[in-house]
Amino acid sequence: MHGSLRLSLIAIAVAGSPLAALATPPSATAYTPTDALDLLMAGNVRFSSNMCEHRNADTTRVHDTAIGQSPFAIVLACADSRLPVERVFDRGVGDVFTIRVAGNTSGPFQAGSIEYAVEHLGSPLLVVLGHSSCGAVKAAAGGGEAHGNIGAMLAPIFPAVFEARTGSPDASGDALIDLAVRANVMRSISDLIASSPIIAEATESGSIRVVGAVYNLESGRVEWLGQHPNEESILVRAREARETPVATTTAPEPTVLNSRPQPTTTAARTTAPTTSKPAAKPQAHAKVDEHH
Ligand SMILES: [Zn+2]
Repeated sequence: MHGSLRLSLIAIAVAGSPLAALATPPSATAYTPTDALDLLMAGNVRFSSNMCEHRNADTTRVHDTAIGQSPFAIVLACADSRLPVERVFDRGVGDVFTIRVAGNTSGPFQAGSIEYAVEHLGSPLLVVLGHSSCGAVKAAAGGGEAHGNIGAMLAPIFPAVFEARTGSPDASGDALIDLAVRANVMRSISDLIASSPIIAEATESGSIRVVGAVYNLESGRVEWLGQHPNEESILVRAREARETPVATTTAPEPTVLNSRPQPTTTAARTTAPTTSKPAAKPQAHAKVDEHH
């Protein structure tokens, strides 16, 4: 029998048998943000030194996680094919909640995905992962015409390139791209915290830690950049924005054509001040069994 077909049949047989019901849920031991960061750091050391242990990458793990996920880390990474997130951290099924988009930028879809993992899955660590020689950053730095939807994809990267150029006016070529990649990682972090009350409150409470990192395409090593250097002031500004009531605005008077004078109506919009709902505390994160 063909190998893969045989494996598929075995999988179907197990899934339909009492064995499936015996699959144990992840244990309830909690990971801290430090635990999670240590796991990713150790995994990348194994990967980059060719010592992979292929953690949680077998069918036992597939079956165990079919009942639910409890990823210990969220990673927002570039879509570059040379940056397969689980592989570079030597992790497997159910370990990492990964969002990938060219240039690892942070629009509403990315932020929403991260919010889901923070609120509903209890992941204690968020990593924004850029990489060396990023094509999206190079395209943003190079300027020129972008076809299709590529221009919209590049737009959030322009400020990072500008920041790199103004911060280091003498930098050019690879050195400029390297600076822009780092600035882009940090800009994604600040955008996520500034735009998402859920991420901001979880960061402020210590439920999650948010760090930046850059993957080196040549060595396979991840350089850890740590938290945003201005995280505290970004959090303060985000909190102030949440707590500031939205200004009451007055709707324009309706234009009345060819009619008798209308009684004056006060059409002021009574927008209630919007105070953001406190984010639900993430559940204690469940430590998962490792099979390797
Ligand atoms: Zn890239």
